[in-house]
Amino acid sequence: MNEFELIDRFFSRPLPAGGIVMRGVGDDCALLDCGGRVLAMTTDLLLEGRHFLPDADPASLGHKALAVNLSDLAAAGASPRAFQLALALPRADETWLEAFCHGLFALADEQGCVLAGGDTTRAPRLASETTQVDGPLTICITALGDLPGAAVRTRAGARVGDDLWVSGTLGDARAALACRRGEFAGVPLADATSFAARMDRPQPRVALGIALRGLATAAIDISDGLLGDLGHILKRSRVGAVVEWERLPRSGALRGLHVEQQRRFAMAGGDDYELLFTAPPAQRKAVEAAGFTSSTAVTRIGRIVEAADRLRVVDGGGVELPTPWHAFDHFAE
Ligand SMILES: [Mg+2]
Repeated sequence: MNEFELIDRFFSRPLPAGGIVMRGVGDDCALLDCGGRVLAMTTDLLLEGRHFLPDADPASLGHKALAVNLSDLAAAGASPRAFQLALALPRADETWLEAFCHGLFALADEQGCVLAGGDTTRAPRLASETTQVDGPLTICITALGDLPGAAVRTRAGARVGDDLWVSGTLGDARAALACRRGEFAGVPLADATSFAARMDRPQPRVALGIALRGLATAAIDISDGLLGDLGHILKRSRVGAVVEWERLPRSGALRGLHVEQQRRFAMAGGDDYELLFTAPPAQRKAVEAAGFTSSTAVTRIGRIVEAADRLRVVDGGGVELPTPWHAFDHFAE
């Protein structure tokens, strides 16, 4: 059972008719109808040993824990308003907490997102026969944003003929992970540093998400890899897509890697936190203007096709390329 089958089977429940919840499980944000305004709500959990290494920089962790939530709000086109923070700490380390808060609140203040509450607890000490270790550091944030009712967009609105767009560049965070794991040598230090910045300090595309209100027909933020997350839009919208590999935006550092690595990292690497969205071809100029006003690069990477044509990645000559990688799945072993 993969992560999404698990959610479908145990946690997808019918929404009560006429209730406040307009969209529930299965999108980037839950959407609550508050009479004219729509409230967007999202939760992300970061767990030591799963999402970050025990020696991770606390300021970067503070930034990233909020950034991944704001990225979900961006996909929904919501303006960030407030967040709640739940922490399970192995110990009360003042130096660690100061740095964590510095990273967290720098981003919160920049985005006008106010800490409105939360909970803290001490993580349990786990004992085996030979050792005792402090329980994993766990950081859980729930973020709230809002948007006009007329601007609601989800993963389900892509239409055949729409263009497929992506913000920023893809694959850098996965390249950072490869550097950290020692998967390849010989990467110039400057490139390794720029990869690491993308993994540790993702920039949520909030301004772009807002600028795309009324333009994008569907959107998702890329957390588990382009193809996997595109798959969610295709499934929910009941359409297919053609992605043109050569159009995928890649940083100069990524272009320094072997082409096979570029492909794998750009199409199946996680942690990009870029926006992937669809819009009608008649809106091309408007989408480019939204990118310009939000100071965010936007690139057209393909188009939406009939569901029967599924998801295909093609080269410049239109020849289909193999994509033997899987999106990141927390429950795959
Ligand atoms: Mg998301």
